[in-house]
Amino acid sequence: MRIANLSGRLALIVDGKAVDVEQASDGSFPADPQAVYERWEEFHAWVATADLPEGVTFRPADLGSPAPAPRQTLAVGLNYRDHASESGFAVPEGLPPVFTKFVTSISGPVSEVKLPEGGNTDWEVELVAVIGRRAEAVREQDAWAHVAGLAVGQDISERVSQLAGPAPQFSLGKSFPGFTPIGPWLVTPDEFDDPDDLELSCAINGEEVQKSRTRDLIFSVPALIAELSAVLPLLPGDVVFTGTPAGVGLGRDPQRFLAVGDELVSTIEGIGELRQTFTA
Ligand code: ZN
Repeated sequence: MRIANLSGRLALIVDGKAVDVEQASDGSFPADPQAVYERWEEFHAWVATADLPEGVTFRPADLGSPAPAPRQTLAVGLNYRDHASESGFAVPEGLPPVFTKFVTSISGPVSEVKLPEGGNTDWEVELVAVIGRRAEAVREQDAWAHVAGLAVGQDISERVSQLAGPAPQFSLGKSFPGFTPIGPWLVTPDEFDDPDDLELSCAINGEEVQKSRTRDLIFSVPALIAELSAVLPLLPGDVVFTGTPAGVGLGRDPQRFLAVGDELVSTIEGIGELRQTFTA
């Protein structure tokens, strides 16, 4: 199953077309895309038996984030060995650093992003998991049952503010407006042959800059959910950014950052792509 946020309304994507959920369910499920996660299992059961009308075509630019207003967004740093070393950090032995991307930075999959003045804005393609069932002290082997689905995420990062001061400002440096595109839709885990092994990549103006597989995550999606939910409950609709592989601009020699006019395309196998262009 694929669900999307089309112009602010919850939609099912069937054969590439969008079916409006509130209309198709005669109002049983509200249009608010964020609200569906509170009733995820009930929704899943309805979709399995619903007689859905034919969908409508749509433009990717009209999609919003499939989780536009999570109560919590947890983002994980240094969760691929090759990225930890290019960033000059030791590979974490325990849980990698965890920060948030503030909710106002979330956007849909196709967007224009303003580059902060005087900043060095960098790219980080990441697999995103959205929680579908409250997770509290969940065991790793049970964790996938708490995931509603997976999406592509970009953890856009402004490195000057991120690294200024006595301790890193991960959360602020990664939360400028538009710095958290998610999409293009949410794909349920059962849609993948192996949801723990997906190719992810991103390209700037057509030049590939990152390419890896999620099997190379130090903490897999279920391992992260186990570790995070041992500390705090993960709530339905919460978003987890799982970390980025090597190839970010900060780790290059010479370093490279996003410039006005650049187009960044981020892709995950079996999900789809994000497309950001950068403006002054
Ligand atoms: Zn990141």
